[in-house]
Amino acid sequence: MDLSIRFRREMDKGLCRDTNPTAAVKMLPTFVRSTPDGTEQGEFLALDLGGSNFRVLLVKVMANGKQEVEMENQIYAIPEHLMRGSGSQLFDHIADCLANFLEKLGIKEKKLPLGFTFSFPCQQTKLDESVLVSWTKSFKSSGVEGKDVVSLLRKSIKKRGDFDVDILAVINDTVGTMMTCGYDDHHCEIGLIVGTGTNACYMEHMRNLDLLDGDEGRMCVNTEWGAFGDDGSLEDLRTGIDREIDAGSLNPGKQLFEKMVSGLYMGELVRLILLRMTKEQLLFQGKTTPQLLTTGSFNTSHIFAIENDKLEGLASAQQVLQGLGLDPSVEDCRTTRRVCQIVSTRAAHLCAATLVAVLRQIRDNKAAEKLRTTIGVDGSVYKNHPEFSRRLHKMVRRLVPDCDVRFLQSQCGSGKGAAMVTAVAYRLAAQHAE
Ligand code: BGC
Ligand code: MG
Repeated sequence: MDLSIRFRREMDKGLCRDTNPTAAVKMLPTFVRSTPDGTEQGEFLALDLGGSNFRVLLVKVMANGKQEVEMENQIYAIPEHLMRGSGSQLFDHIADCLANFLEKLGIKEKKLPLGFTFSFPCQQTKLDESVLVSWTKSFKSSGVEGKDVVSLLRKSIKKRGDFDVDILAVINDTVGTMMTCGYDDHHCEIGLIVGTGTNACYMEHMRNLDLLDGDEGRMCVNTEWGAFGDDGSLEDLRTGIDREIDAGSLNPGKQLFEKMVSGLYMGELVRLILLRMTKEQLLFQGKTTPQLLTTGSFNTSHIFAIENDKLEGLASAQQVLQGLGLDPSVEDCRTTRRVCQIVSTRAAHLCAATLVAVLRQIRDNKAAEKLRTTIGVDGSVYKNHPEFSRRLHKMVRRLVPDCDVRFLQSQCGSGKGAAMVTAVAYRLAAQHAE
């Protein structure tokens, strides 16, 4: 069956109260109901955890009609042992980084409102309560699944006792991306990430959100489409290599769509294909090397370089392969480039199929003949792969020729977006208090 139609059914399954408990695609309510209207103002802190970097940000939002946003931000490392150690250690580290940031800017005495971009599937009951469903990507700290991450962060901050913040919102990175782009383009109603992981959110009508009471207005839904296929619905498309990647991952059986698409797995997919071809005497005269045999030795960023313009790309292929201790012929380099193209094109087309399902849903909700919409996008694969975005756009336009779709790349969207959501929450809270 058409993959896009298949995903649309999964979305329905996640949205319906009866089928949601067993749905692979969770369609999580985010409690984000409105995009910024430009009257927000103030200073906000944001944390951004779950992408390729952990960031702390200070965002100044100015309500001067020009919608200006100023920003200070700092990247902090999260050592691997903390990604997979105990949850309290991880949150203590986050609190330490925050303290360092406040100290550096000399604002430790202020109690600022804070938004937390936490890019994992979370069950929310309100904007500032967010229970982690399961870790994805490279994270697996113990004792966090099933817990509210806001409480965990508050606890770690309190334990230090030398500063305080007012945590007002937890959002997914897709939501942050949509919000940041929505600040510049009021048609933006979809957020898309193709980076370390992949996911999308969109503005859904409350009447379709079976899980929540109320039929008025819209709310942003975090689809968590990375889990598409976790109930077996992609088995006809998954290859032996896909199964191998899954078996060797931190979360076997989970995020099966993500493992076919996102940057954390793309390089490894290529390595496993090259390895198999070598064993079948189709590459490198049948000779493997210890490096080629090592998990993770072929980075996704190598794919970006190899898929560059023909000459440059082939030179990169030679360099990368030599770096793996191989002695490639020109033909080996060409084949390697072809393998990269096949893996990344499949990813772009899979993404197009799910995105188109979301577009059709929005179009049907509006009962519009011709949909005009904007998709805010972020993520290393989308931004750094030389062909990915073009292939994605082309396939989307082919599948929904009747929609006018614009793609808007967000700058630092996931973090800035948390500040935007916090700013809106802050404005609404102030209005209520009046
Ligand atoms: C997570 C999503 C996130 C995506 C992109 C996935 O692994 O489950 O919540 O939006 O990665 O960062
Ligand atoms: Mg991010």
